[in-house]
Amino acid sequence: MKNIWAPWRMTYIDDDKREGCIFCDKLKGPDRRSNLVLAETAHSLVMLNKYPYNNGHLLLAPKRHEKQLSALSVDEYGDLSEALRKSVAIILAALHPGGINLGMNLGRCAGAGVEDHFHWHVVPRWDADTNFMPVVGEVRVMPQHLLESYDRLRPYFEAF
Ligand SMILES: [Zn+2]
Repeated sequence: MKNIWAPWRMTYIDDDKREGCIFCDKLKGPDRRSNLVLAETAHSLVMLNKYPYNNGHLLLAPKRHEKQLSALSVDEYGDLSEALRKSVAIILAALHPGGINLGMNLGRCAGAGVEDHFHWHVVPRWDADTNFMPVVGEVRVMPQHLLESYDRLRPYFEAF
């Protein structure tokens, strides 16, 4: 993946030693919007990444706190795969990216930021995104920017 300039990710690095699990914590929170949770299925969770590499960067995780993809049941894996398929369709329809990066980092040495609860990254890409991001890439702007992304995407997830 080509590097995108994303200065708000420094906050993420500073936050790295926090207690708890971002995915399990989101499931407990009552406010979907402030938690950036777009959809919940029988076994899976879809949310916007609070520290995105790009506009519309989604994270998909099983609801069960699980470190390894290979430890999922057939039902959990099927549910997550279907959520991934539908999420990609939504990103294409809602944001019209030129491409999408899908990624999963299993284990710290593979680059996992949250290594104890595995997750998919869905990162929409545009031809001009490396030029576009510095313009909106102010740390203080991101919370608003994220909620705008949330409000734009949430209707698509209504019947998820
Ligand atoms: Zn967890």
